[in-house]
Amino acid sequence: MAKLLVTGGAGFVGVNFVRYWRKYHPADAVIVLDALTYAGNAASLVDVKDVSLVHGDIRDFGLLTKLLLERQIDVVVHFAAESHVDRSIHGPDEFVDTNIIGTHVLLKAAKAVWLDTGSGTPHRFHHVSTDEVFGSLTPQETGFSEITPYRPNSPYSASKAASDHLVRAYHKTFGLQVTTSNCSNNYGPYQFPEKLIPLFTINALLGRPLPIYGDGGNVRDWLHVGDHCCGIERILEAGKPGETYNIGGGEELPNLAVIDHICRCVDDAFITKPELRRRFPNAPAANGKSSAILKKHVSDRKGHDRRYAIDETKIRCELGYTPKHSFGSGLEDTIQWYINNEEWWRSVMDGSYRDWMKLNYVSE
Ligand code: NAD
Repeated sequence: MAKLLVTGGAGFVGVNFVRYWRKYHPADAVIVLDALTYAGNAASLVDVKDVSLVHGDIRDFGLLTKLLLERQIDVVVHFAAESHVDRSIHGPDEFVDTNIIGTHVLLKAAKAVWLDTGSGTPHRFHHVSTDEVFGSLTPQETGFSEITPYRPNSPYSASKAASDHLVRAYHKTFGLQVTTSNCSNNYGPYQFPEKLIPLFTINALLGRPLPIYGDGGNVRDWLHVGDHCCGIERILEAGKPGETYNIGGGEELPNLAVIDHICRCVDDAFITKPELRRRFPNAPAANGKSSAILKKHVSDRKGHDRRYAIDETKIRCELGYTPKHSFGSGLEDTIQWYINNEEWWRSVMDGSYRDWMKLNYVSE
């Protein structure tokens, strides 16, 4: 039986990972450590049984060593981060503090407990990172592999790149048993509605503009969050300490194609469920029009990377990982989830999700 500390487990990918792990590894203990920043939502975990949520910061060395020792943690899965590129352009400081300093404090605590005082206790530190550390590809270049040189372009990707290097250094220098995964754009349930897919779905339902950066031709690889969790599971079970693994969905698409797909899914949902017209009267689809009329091109993001793509040969061949979701069906399910979970995103939009204390759920 393993004892997992999941940092950032109240954020989008962390929540999905905790739910996945509870389902497929019910004997393991799962402790979430989350600072509950604007992106952390304790309500996303409230129905998950046998998870302990600790409200705290990865920059708090004392809290970390106490948790690792007292809860006898043997696996850390590190998701906690500032994750939104646009926010990193407007305010990079928090990204440096959380993503670089925070990861370093976590590494120091793991070293102190597992190596210095625990003298070699079996352990694993898995660091979750992004393909954005590799920079931008031209249309002709092949996808990022694990040996692609780092060329981060945004404060977000630069801070994640720095954290990846620290994780690597703690393995090479001190022997910490680390693995790192660099994955592409995730989509799925519980994603904060500042990111493309939830934002555009909700805006299409509410009849608000769909703001498209530049010409909309930026290309991303899309990974269903369930497949991401599966990839991390394979790495925890069979990955080699010191190694990095790229995880992708094998679904490269320009943003415009993703947006058109969202519009079609929302329009179709109104055809199959006419009752949506009453719930979302301002949606174009409620009035027989296409959601696509809401599309609006806006100035491009500063330093916007043109294309990301992943070569996931290593994780497929060495660990037997294969993504199970196609983008088409994964997107339909995701849009259905946002339609069926209006209360969840309304509470984020009106700010009431910040009243997490009322949930009587945060344990420390
Ligand atoms: P998110 O922004 O939804 O969640 C981040 C979580 O970390 C939140 O719950 C937040 O409260 C918590 N957090 C922030 N600062 C903290 C601190 N100092 N101490 C403790 N907790 C803190 O992010 P996400 O989309 O779930 O991403 C999770 C991880 O996956 C990140 O490391 C991100 O870089 C990586 N990643 C995400 C994607 C994606 O598409 N979402 C893609 C590639 C990599």
